[in-house]
Amino acid sequence: MSKPPDSQRMEKIVSLCKRRGFIFQSSEIYGGLNGAWDYGPLGVELKRNLKSYWWRIIVHERDDVVGMDGSILMNRAVWKASGHEDTFSDLFVECPITKKRFRADQVEPQSGLVYYYSGATGRMNDEDAERILQTEVDPILRDLEFVWAEPFKDHVRKIRKDRGDWLGAVQAACDNWPDTRSRRQEIEDCFSATCSIAFSVLLAAGKPPEAAQKIAKLFYEQRGVIEPELIFDRKEPIKDTTRYNPENGALFNEPRPFNLMFKTYVGATEDESSITYLRPETAQSIFVQFKNVLEVARKKLPFGIAQIGKAFRNEINPRNFTFRSREFEQMELEYFCRAEEGMKLLDYWLEERLKFYENIGIAREKLHARNVPDEERAFYSKGTYDIEYDFPFGRQELEGVAYRTDYDLSQHQNASGKSLEYFDEETKQRFVPHVVEPSAGVDRTVLALICEAYSEDEAPDEKGKMETRLVLHFHPRMAPIKCGIFPLLRNNAQLVAKAKEIVDLLRPHMNIFYDESGAIGRRYRRQDEIGTPFGVTVDFETLGEKGAALRDTVTVRERDSMKQERVAINDLAGMLISRIS
Ligand code: ATP
Repeated sequence: MSKPPDSQRMEKIVSLCKRRGFIFQSSEIYGGLNGAWDYGPLGVELKRNLKSYWWRIIVHERDDVVGMDGSILMNRAVWKASGHEDTFSDLFVECPITKKRFRADQVEPQSGLVYYYSGATGRMNDEDAERILQTEVDPILRDLEFVWAEPFKDHVRKIRKDRGDWLGAVQAACDNWPDTRSRRQEIEDCFSATCSIAFSVLLAAGKPPEAAQKIAKLFYEQRGVIEPELIFDRKEPIKDTTRYNPENGALFNEPRPFNLMFKTYVGATEDESSITYLRPETAQSIFVQFKNVLEVARKKLPFGIAQIGKAFRNEINPRNFTFRSREFEQMELEYFCRAEEGMKLLDYWLEERLKFYENIGIAREKLHARNVPDEERAFYSKGTYDIEYDFPFGRQELEGVAYRTDYDLSQHQNASGKSLEYFDEETKQRFVPHVVEPSAGVDRTVLALICEAYSEDEAPDEKGKMETRLVLHFHPRMAPIKCGIFPLLRNNAQLVAKAKEIVDLLRPHMNIFYDESGAIGRRYRRQDEIGTPFGVTVDFETLGEKGAALRDTVTVRERDSMKQERVAINDLAGMLISRIS
């Protein structure tokens, strides 16, 4: 079972991310841009460490995978052939009151009492009445060959100004204009402010019916009825419905599809012929370059092509911090194989990917492989796993591992008319390879790393009194800064000089941080908070003041255990490198 969401923990994480420079809202000084985020000095390091490690494991440490870096803009034909132009959409529902849109499959199920209304009556507003006068009354009057149409309408407006009521004004005007008598009812009907659209409101148990009435009145007011009198129909209990807005109880409009691709124009003309899209996934450039890469890489099946890069989706509801963004990065591998190997390789890659997450410090028990059922899977996929992580806001997808058969290459082969076949030297057969795709999100994994690392524990302060310690327990491999270097006192030239020597020694090998300000305990805390796994302190022992044995040794403090050990400066680089790589 997934754990209940922990919004307090999430709030603390978001606030730490901003305070310490991991992640900022994009365009913050202008009020931000929904679904876009900027990574600050520490965030960018964390992200780079993740991407480098993925590249190392997927490309450099394997014989059977090569990399590529495709462009974000591609020929529109790619998106037609891949099916994205027609079908890359999510169903959305819209609240008729607030106009806010939600992804239909992401509305939380709710239970309660539904109040049904079959309509409302009331007065008509000026704007609607004016529109009706021009669009609905006009043809009725013209049908009568009513030469007095304009004066009649002016007369209605004048009476309405005096008495404030459109229906009454129309009735009074009809009394004075004999020609209107035969059509009087028709004209009057246009002005009776009745809205007979059915509407309903869901209220949680225990809420007073007035709350439903308030929302229903807003609904009918927006449809042109002033001071609506509701026509109540019935009330009924309901369970686990997703048809109502969780924020105000209003019945959503019918679900509609929304294409998630960002449309853009290439070149100086903005017309149909110059349309293309910002890529919504990196995979397609791998498929369309399959033949080129195959020729230059000279690989035999099974082999893979890997890519890391930006992708864009105009998500209906960006939310949960960076989890669902409109601009994000993906790390994708397309692993090409023979048809008969597909299912076995799907399981192989699932295991490889789970191992990867463990190796970057994500606990195995917080990872879940969900076997995506037939009805949720793309029609061409014979098997898909979602790797999910227990985020503080619930269990959510980190990565999809999908066996996509030969769908993608076949689509592009058919649409382009260019062969994307593989020639097997041994069997002399030609065929379109199948593919298994592990597709991971950089931003989601960065967020998982931060959520996993975040912890509050207790540690003694300068005077030995216990205080709350905020720590990010990043795996040393992922930590943005690997080592803090501290001279015990900032006003001692020898200590400072020695510490700077160590900075020069370590800098070529890792990202380090030099800090000489404040008490040493404070400096440790500052590094704990950003997840620096090691702290090196240069003290009087280092200078040889407590005997020759300790000369040129330093204290190395480990973040998680807070244990300190004495290490010779000569051994320092080797020891740290072995622990961060
Ligand atoms: P979801 O169901 O959450 O929208 P998806 O199944 O559509 O995701 P895929 O098309 O399989 O996602 O994309 C592969 C990976 O790309 C996802 O597992 C995720 O890590 C990442 N990803 C997809 N959409 C987003 C997004 N809007 N923001 C951040 N990462 C994303």
